[in-house]
Amino acid sequence: MKKEIKMLIDLQSFEDIISNLTDSLEKIPLQIKKLEEELSENKKEVENIKNGIAQTTKAYNEFDAKIKDNTERVKKNDNDLMSVKTNKEYNAILKAIENLKLANSDMEDKMIAYLDEMEAENKKLKASKEKLAEAIKKVESKKTILEKDLKQKKEKLHKTVEKKEMKTNALSHSILAIYNNIKKIKGNKVITSAVDGVCNGCNLNLPIQEYIKIQKSELIGFCPNCQRIIYYEASENTE
Ligand SMILES: [Zn+2]
Repeated sequence: MKKEIKMLIDLQSFEDIISNLTDSLEKIPLQIKKLEEELSENKKEVENIKNGIAQTTKAYNEFDAKIKDNTERVKKNDNDLMSVKTNKEYNAILKAIENLKLANSDMEDKMIAYLDEMEAENKKLKASKEKLAEAIKKVESKKTILEKDLKQKKEKLHKTVEKKEMKTNALSHSILAIYNNIKKIKGNKVITSAVDGVCNGCNLNLPIQEYIKIQKSELIGFCPNCQRIIYYEASENTE
């Protein structure tokens, strides 16, 4: 019986390892996804600044085109001045020229402001891009570690499953049936130690006869409370 208890403990430990590895293997891809999401804020910032620059540039170019257009109109009006017949007409054209020049001067002031704005935005863009590059570097290095961990855990899982199968095949059918029945009810923890008369599965005192039985390791024991397979483990205090 001692040998089979030992085999069950091993089986249990392989199953624990498999369960932990399976958990990790589910979590790691989520962690990687989360890391990538962290970058989205930085990327958004860069995009927003780029959009801002594009808008300012567009406004600048629109004024530029309008100024050129107005300048053409001023030239045309200048020509028209030569051929006007009345004073009223002359004054009207002069007024139009003045208005066009005023509008241009106003737009030129705004264009200077736009240039300042673009310069500031470009500085911000540069800083933001550097921040993004730094964040990408950090994320990539964390991702590399996680991916390596994932690979190692997959390999370990594969090996542990093989070991578990070997152990399972070596167990007698009757013991395995008991083990699987308890597993169905209790989940992963099927076999547990009992120390100083206490079941470590449920922390309750075992009946003395059951405890003596497992202490002698004559028969496979069960906790009457939690129904797990129990085995004797000497208390650290008495060793
Ligand atoms: Zn118990």
